[in-house]
Amino acid sequence: MTPSARKIRLILELRSGGVTDTRALGAMERIPRELFVPAPFRDKAYDDVALPIGHHQTLSAPLVVARMTQALEVGERHKVLEIGTGSGYQTAVLAFLCRRVYTVERITELLVEAEARLAELRITNVTALSGDGALGWPHQAPFDRVMVTAAAPSVPAALVDQLAVDGVMVTPVEGEGGQRLIRVRRTEQGFETEDLAPVNFVPLV
Ligand code: SAH
Repeated sequence: MTPSARKIRLILELRSGGVTDTRALGAMERIPRELFVPAPFRDKAYDDVALPIGHHQTLSAPLVVARMTQALEVGERHKVLEIGTGSGYQTAVLAFLCRRVYTVERITELLVEAEARLAELRITNVTALSGDGALGWPHQAPFDRVMVTAAAPSVPAALVDQLAVDGVMVTPVEGEGGQRLIRVRRTEQGFETEDLAPVNFVPLV
């Protein structure tokens, strides 16, 4: 099967997995996932599987990326904070959909590699920072959208603080029966929290 046939098959799988957001699907159709995985795993780039990216970290399975992106309700004028750049794949998807992505990664080597991939794809609306994402990015706050791609014991308070009114945050959180994907909406009155699905992310360190 050619890479483009594999990609079409994957997009169909994402649709049957409940992803209806055509902007998210379009972004994933455009971004070459094979560029974000180490060479030995390139032939699996369009299978719906998580792949290792070194430093004991993983690039999430495409269905997880698609569902998280859909849950975030990203608009083209939004300023987005992403915690856990990893390979930069989710960053690229977000960058395709919004005005600017601010992304934070604690492992500098991963961040450098991710930035090189984004540059190769001529994605220029990403600003990257090496550091502890649990603190967010206070100088750039508030953010319209916040996506966290590593699981914390509870919703990180600093990130909630940096969410704009009408803002949405999607984050995995450790629960009693395992991790859950949580969506937090900030309203004029306060915060609304929804439990979306079970997930399995590496820990937020
Ligand atoms: N979204 C990534 C995969 C995420 S794996 C992708 O598309 O490839 C989770 C990432 O979160 C890892 O790279 C890990 O180093 C990073 N991470 C974990 N704790 C962090 C923290 N406190 N601050 C910033 N990044 C963190």
